[in-house]
Amino acid sequence: MPIGYWESEYLLRPADLTIVGAGIVGMSAALHYKRMRPDAHVRILERDPLSSGGTTRNAGFACFGSAGEWLDDLDSLGIEGLKGLVQDRTEGLSELLGLLGAESIGLQWTGGWELFGPGEKERALAERVSKALPELNEAVAPVLHAVLGPIHPQLKTSPAAILDAKRAQVLGASASVSLPWEGMIHTGKMVAAFHRALYEAQVERIHGVQVNALLKGHSGWIMDTSKGSLATTQLAICTNGLAKDLISGVDTQPVPNRVLVAKIKPGVLPLGTYHLERGYLYMRSLENNQVLFGGGRHWDLTPPHSDASPVHMPCEWDHKLQAAAESWIGPLDEITHRWTGWLGVGQDRRPLIGQTQPGLHHAVRMGGMGVAIGCRVGKALAKNLSAE
Ligand SMILES: Cc1cc2nc3c(=O)[nH]c(=O)nc-3n(C[C@H](O)[C@H](O)[C@H](O)COP(=O)(O)OP(=O)(O)OC[C@H]3O[C@@H](n4cnc5c(N)ncnc54)[C@H](O)[C@@H]3O)c2cc1C
Repeated sequence: MPIGYWESEYLLRPADLTIVGAGIVGMSAALHYKRMRPDAHVRILERDPLSSGGTTRNAGFACFGSAGEWLDDLDSLGIEGLKGLVQDRTEGLSELLGLLGAESIGLQWTGGWELFGPGEKERALAERVSKALPELNEAVAPVLHAVLGPIHPQLKTSPAAILDAKRAQVLGASASVSLPWEGMIHTGKMVAAFHRALYEAQVERIHGVQVNALLKGHSGWIMDTSKGSLATTQLAICTNGLAKDLISGVDTQPVPNRVLVAKIKPGVLPLGTYHLERGYLYMRSLENNQVLFGGGRHWDLTPPHSDASPVHMPCEWDHKLQAAAESWIGPLDEITHRWTGWLGVGQDRRPLIGQTQPGLHHAVRMGGMGVAIGCRVGKALAKNLSAE
């Protein structure tokens, strides 16, 4: 349908800043930027009516990693690298709370747990984790105390991870580590709170517009979109794993994660978030005796040539996910939801925040941690944009 006069003259007029992607990064960047430049005309373009990345389809862990994951990070990044990752996550969460408030995102400080299975490999990992706990706590706990201590006064100086034989017994694990600083949010409420905040800050959010290509203009950028050509002075790409569709030279790609929600018997899963198999699988309690169980990208079942458009996931993935869930909490009474969400991953777990050309910025590759780090990343992007 051709664009009409009122649309091109006003509704789709050139913007000062256009952000592509209405995920947690794009939305938080817009809010931070508006605080720095209240008079700027900021527009978010999103291809999907509800957004279609990880932001509306995640598990809602307010987490900083588990002891098993920290061990991996220690091996690959060293102690300073590990501290940096945890710092990013704690600061990101505290930014999220600062932007939207704890109540509006349904935050509950439930505590989280890492569970180890009965197999030999899992027992060996639990043994390694148990031995490394003093070193891990020494590295991670001060970061949690410094950033989250004021938000979480009852924990104050609690360790980051503690062996918890009781929880292991309840869930039939060979070992369990409690992660007392962890919590959970209500993802749907978080997205709705972002939408309200954007409206209040007078950020324009247009859904149903796909950006197909970018062209350098005389005084900014021209975007070829599903609504025709649109102009903007500055441009920020916040499409996570899909950034390569629009800009070159960024190491990020879309990777699917499968999730299910099922009804369970009362009392089977104590309130909390649970990390399994080094974070490649995860589960959490939901209200009304339900469980959310997801992950499985380590099974390597992604169909070949898939991109982030809906693709048919192999039945094998669903079968394995259900079997994994049932191995922890027994038969699932009724599976009510199954969906795929998309992560943006690369060689490194750290996000990419940068600029490829004058006026063209990006903040992508959130790994599986965008709820935790997204708002810190959005803030860093907004600072770069306003400093240009
Ligand atoms: C199943 C699952 C569970 C997760 N659980 C957790 C968790 O518990 N805790 C945690 O911290 N993190 C979790 N994550 C990760 C987290 O959800 C993501 O890292 C985060 O939401 C990414 O945010 P984003 O803004 O970078 O990207 P996205 O949320 O992916 O947003 C990018 C948006 O860009 C849009 N877009 C893409 N291309 C275009 C285009 N060309 N034109 C217009 N629009 C476009 C997409 O439709 C999308 O809405 C999970 C992710 C998944 C998939």
